Amino acid sequence: MEKDLKSKTVAALDRLIVRLGQPKYQAGYIFSAVQAHSVTDISAITTLSKPLRAKLVEEGYYISSLQVVEKLTDPDGTVKYVFGLPDGSKIESVLLFDDDRRTLCVSTQVGCEMGCVFCATGRLGLARNLTAGDIVDQVNLAGGDARISNVVFMGMGEPLANYEATLDAVRILNHSAGRHIGIRHLTISTCGLVEGIERLADEGIQPRLAISLNAPTDAIRQKLMPIAKKYSLGRLFAAVELYQHKTRNRVTFEYCLIKGVNDTGLHARMLVKRLRGVMCNVNLIEYNPHEGCNLKPSDREAIERFAGVLEDAGFETTVRLKMGQTINAACGQLGAKRMENSE
Ligand code: SF4
Repeated sequence: MEKDLKSKTVAALDRLIVRLGQPKYQAGYIFSAVQAHSVTDISAITTLSKPLRAKLVEEGYYISSLQVVEKLTDPDGTVKYVFGLPDGSKIESVLLFDDDRRTLCVSTQVGCEMGCVFCATGRLGLARNLTAGDIVDQVNLAGGDARISNVVFMGMGEPLANYEATLDAVRILNHSAGRHIGIRHLTISTCGLVEGIERLADEGIQPRLAISLNAPTDAIRQKLMPIAKKYSLGRLFAAVELYQHKTRNRVTFEYCLIKGVNDTGLHARMLVKRLRGVMCNVNLIEYNPHEGCNLKPSDREAIERFAGVLEDAGFETTVRLKMGQTINAACGQLGAKRMENSE
């Protein structure tokens, strides 16, 4: 059983408190102390009676905490955090500033087993899943520097491959007694695990959904993302259709533009055909090269041309140019330096 109080939703704390024969409202005291006031020692939750605090400690409960190992700031303002976990593993989060938005891109796994060829994390392989406590603590610690308004589950790891912890983190971050980040400001980004998308459609809580698409055809997608060999675009879009039928939510498609691979006018027109009828917007991401991968970023004219085709077809399109270049904080770069350093 998970003994870390930081990983527990209010509902899980309710169950714990009832099991201990205590009045349920005490669960709220624990949640608020841990999530809103960053208490890291059970004995310091002074809103609980001394015997209850002692009982929790006696049963092995504790409050986990990440360590800030490194904090790097790019001249463009982007901040990259390297966090240490108790077992010595390291993960990264990136804080992006955009007008009055403070968006934190959080990791959900140590490494990733999805192997997308354009992504440095994919080269690390999967070491392990993060707990919900590990995920929310990235927000707590980065939130000490700037109030986090948006969280995207798009750092190291595939969030839907760590489904329960990711959804618990969403519930914890959204709760009014904790950070209280609006549900529409929490975005899960997946490489397209269709069972996870279908499962998400039935949850009582609906964060935003983003899908890392990156190709208009199965053949191109399979070259970039091994997961495309398991799930065809037909299967993926059937899951998206089901998701939208049940939730009425708009989906964001992420499309990383790679020179000569997926960035021509023809690719853009094929993408338009593929997205027709789907309630969506598109984020075009400038590819960030990293050592060990010979893919090249599209030039700016190709990016503009691609965006123009989508916009002319009526799709809301955002172009995301490279951020945090001097600190390897861009999408797809997390974990790269760590691996190079350790080789
Ligand atoms: S892009 Fe995402 S899913 Fe793909 S390897 Fe990287 S972290 Fe994993």
